[in-house]
Amino acid sequence: MSAPYVGRFAPSPTGPLHAGSLVAALASWLDARAQGGRWLVRIEDVDPPRCVPGADRLILDQLARCGLVPDEPPVWQSQRAALYAQALERLKAAGWAYPCACSRKDIDAALAARGIVHERHGERVYPGTCRAGLAGRPARAWRVRTVDADHHLIAIDWTDRRLGRQHQDLSATVGDFVLKRADGLWAYQLAVVVDDGEQGITDIVRGEDLADNTARQIHLQRLLGLPTPRYLHTPLVLDAQGEKLSKQTGAPALDTRDPAAAVRAAASVLGLQADAGDLGDVLAALVAGWRARWL
Ligand code: GLU
Repeated sequence: MSAPYVGRFAPSPTGPLHAGSLVAALASWLDARAQGGRWLVRIEDVDPPRCVPGADRLILDQLARCGLVPDEPPVWQSQRAALYAQALERLKAAGWAYPCACSRKDIDAALAARGIVHERHGERVYPGTCRAGLAGRPARAWRVRTVDADHHLIAIDWTDRRLGRQHQDLSATVGDFVLKRADGLWAYQLAVVVDDGEQGITDIVRGEDLADNTARQIHLQRLLGLPTPRYLHTPLVLDAQGEKLSKQTGAPALDTRDPAAAVRAAASVLGLQADAGDLGDVLAALVAGWRARWL
C-alpha cells in the first residue's frame, strides 16, 4: 500500500508571497485536498543572508488569508541543522561526501586548464579536483560525488506529472555539488531532501523553475535511503518581459484584500476556472476542478 498523501509548500522567506508564489502554494494545497491528504508548510530559511526579517510571518498570514492553512504547525529550516549534520555524516561515512578546498577561482582555473568554459545557469560544473583528496589544502565546503567509487557516471530519470519523462546526466551537467557551503551554511539541496524525507512528503508540487533541481534531489534521496516522492512542476507566472515573476525582478507583494480574486487569478495559471464567490466556494470549486484535471 502506498503511504498516505503528505504534500508541502516550502517558501524561502526572502520577501512576501507574490502572484507567482501563490500559484505554487495553491497547486500544492489543491493536490493535497483533492487526494484527501495532509498539507504542510516549511519555511526554508537556511540562507539567512537572503532572508527578510518578518517575511515568514507575512507569508503564513498571506496564505491563511487565501484559505491555505497547514494541517500541522510550520517548521523552520533554521532550527533543523542537527538533521542536516546527521545526513552529511552518513554520506561521509558511506564515502559519498568529501571536503573541498576549491575557491571559485580554483574551479575556473581547473576548467580553463582543460579548455572548458562550462557555465550552467551561471554555475560551474565542478571538475572533481578534491574528489581524490585535499592535497594539504584546508577544507572549505562539502560536496557529494556524482560519480560512484567504480567511476560510473550517474544519470537520473524521473517522471513529472505535468512535464513527463525527464533525464539528467548529473556527472556531466551538474558535477559533484555542494552540501555544506564554504560559509558554513547548509545547501538547499541537502536541506530539502532531508526535510522532505523526515516529514514523510509523498508529493512535491512546486514551480517549474525548480524542476532542474530534481535530479540532484533524487540522487541524495537514493544515497540516504529515502523514498522518492511524486513530482508535479507548475507553470510559472511571467511578467510583461516574459521573465519569471520573482522578488529579484521586482514582483509586487500579493494583494490579499480580495483573497477569492487572488486565488481565482492563481488558479487560471493552472488552467482552472471558478465562478466568483466567497473564498470557501471558490476553493471547493477548484478542488473539484483539480481532481478532474490532474487526477
Ligand atoms: N524554498 C524553495 C523556493 O522558495 C522551494 C523549495 C522546494 O519547493 O523544493 O524556491
